[in-house]
Amino acid sequence: MVEVDSKEGFEVELIKEFRFEAAHRLPMVPEGHKCARLHGHSFRFEIHVRGPVDPRSGWLIDYGEISDAVRPVRKELDHQYLNEIPGLENPTSEVLAAWIWVRVKPKLPNLSAVVVEETCTARCVFRG
Ligand SMILES: [Zn+2]
Repeated sequence: MVEVDSKEGFEVELIKEFRFEAAHRLPMVPEGHKCARLHGHSFRFEIHVRGPVDPRSGWLIDYGEISDAVRPVRKELDHQYLNEIPGLENPTSEVLAAWIWVRVKPKLPNLSAVVVEETCTARCVFRG
């Protein structure tokens, strides 16, 4: 095990997970593609924050700060038809990850990644 000298300082990446339920359809997929039909997901997304650990407090930021920054964004998405939200007319995971990034970045300057997962086995990482 590596001994960490907290006086030296070190970087970490914190990850906090959020969930929301929403419906969407993908208007740009080829004809006959199943995602063209209206359907829903239990979406999951992660907010990654990277930066130096404060040597005195021993943390980067409070996880509660991440929750506070994300709460209004999550609320905009939960139980919505995503295609009706401005900027999400084509709500792929890729577009959604970038959409979340733009809204969260001003509140969390150390934001390092947004991961959007629409199924248990498929996810998209956006790093700005
Ligand atoms: Zn879908």
